Amino acid sequence: NSSLHELDPDVAAAVDAELHRQQSTLEMIASENFAPAAVMEAQGSVLTNKYAEGYPGRRYYGGCEHVDVVEQIAIDRIKELFGAEAANVQPHSGAQANAAAMFALLQPGDTILGLNLAHGGHLTHGMKINFSGKLYNVVPYHVDAETGLVDMDEVERLAKEHRPKLVIAGWSAYPRQLDFAAFRRIADEVGAYLMVDMAHFAGLVAAGLHPSPVPHAHVVTTTTHKTLGGPRGGVILSTAELAKKINSAVFPGQQGGPLEHVIAAKAVSFKVAAGSAFKERQERTVEGAKILAERLTQADVTEVGVSVLSGGTDVHLVLVDLRNSELDGKQAEDRLHEVGITVNRNAIPNDPRPPMVTSGLRIGTPALATRGFTAEDFREVSDIIAEALKPSYDAEALKARVTALADKHPLYPHLSK
Ligand code: PLP
Repeated sequence: NSSLHELDPDVAAAVDAELHRQQSTLEMIASENFAPAAVMEAQGSVLTNKYAEGYPGRRYYGGCEHVDVVEQIAIDRIKELFGAEAANVQPHSGAQANAAAMFALLQPGDTILGLNLAHGGHLTHGMKINFSGKLYNVVPYHVDAETGLVDMDEVERLAKEHRPKLVIAGWSAYPRQLDFAAFRRIADEVGAYLMVDMAHFAGLVAAGLHPSPVPHAHVVTTTTHKTLGGPRGGVILSTAELAKKINSAVFPGQQGGPLEHVIAAKAVSFKVAAGSAFKERQERTVEGAKILAERLTQADVTEVGVSVLSGGTDVHLVLVDLRNSELDGKQAEDRLHEVGITVNRNAIPNDPRPPMVTSGLRIGTPALATRGFTAEDFREVSDIIAEALKPSYDAEALKARVTALADKHPLYPHLSK
């Protein structure tokens, strides 16, 4: 019963260092967030010890009476949160949720239509060396070069030409909302299923700040750790009609024993997401992204070649276009890292630079909103970013301003020694 520090000081030191990094820098990776202490407590609980292959009430192991309660709570809560007919809370990750959903709906060799990776799609939406690109015949759709918006005319044209079995709507890097009704109409026209991957914007949907895909899609997948703010993991929502197929595609199709400790943590995060404080936090998330987009479209930054794709944002992230900047994506990411702000470089549509370098940045506000950032704080961090992207930046001065913001909003103070 030794503590982590006693049993394994090497790992403990790295965990402590990561805590310090999270506390002392500003986290603006759009897919990240800070899970509440209670979520981490559930995830670190004795449920990690339990095998529970199967589903509540139908397990292949004894002793599942308590994990059955936990998993049923998670299922009931997420169905309620999103108004879904059925939910599977077992996928270990977003990628596995997508894999299981596709196993349930498709046969190898079937055609899928998904947003191209370089245009904001996810690996699992048909990237060549991902399972989705290897197992299925992928037809990618794109964003319009002028507007930066998904080209629905192209989606319709490709759907009619290739008659996919599955249309995937959803994204990892896109600053606007999708028209789910239009996607469904196109899917219906060619007899395809519609799957929406709302991993990024699920928290906004839960808060009522983004249209819900649930009434339109046959299947909706999500991660639980992005805007939703829970533990790392995945969920599949579906119509009641597809529930059995989805369940058997997750287990035994894709996975063995579910991670009941993570499912307990998911349940806690769904309770949090149903509350008014969560809604208020998501409002600050979206407001913060709008403040950032506005700041990065002012003359002092556009004159150094920095702009924002699609001219703004409706969600929790901003895509910065550096094609006309002297900085490439890698250099800009490093520049912000130097002043204590963590973001990721990101390929932008028709990116002239290679994927390891890129000409873009993806900057998100969910983690800072969770940390308590107000509009005023988001204005300050936006100014810091704007200054850091100029050739004349003063790293030390900007770093001090980052530290002041981090100190203003302490993170996990109960974990500090
Ligand atoms: N779907 C989308 C849209 C994502 O952005 C991501 C992760 O970034 C995933 C799925 C995969 O989630 P995970 O990393 O949990 O496998």
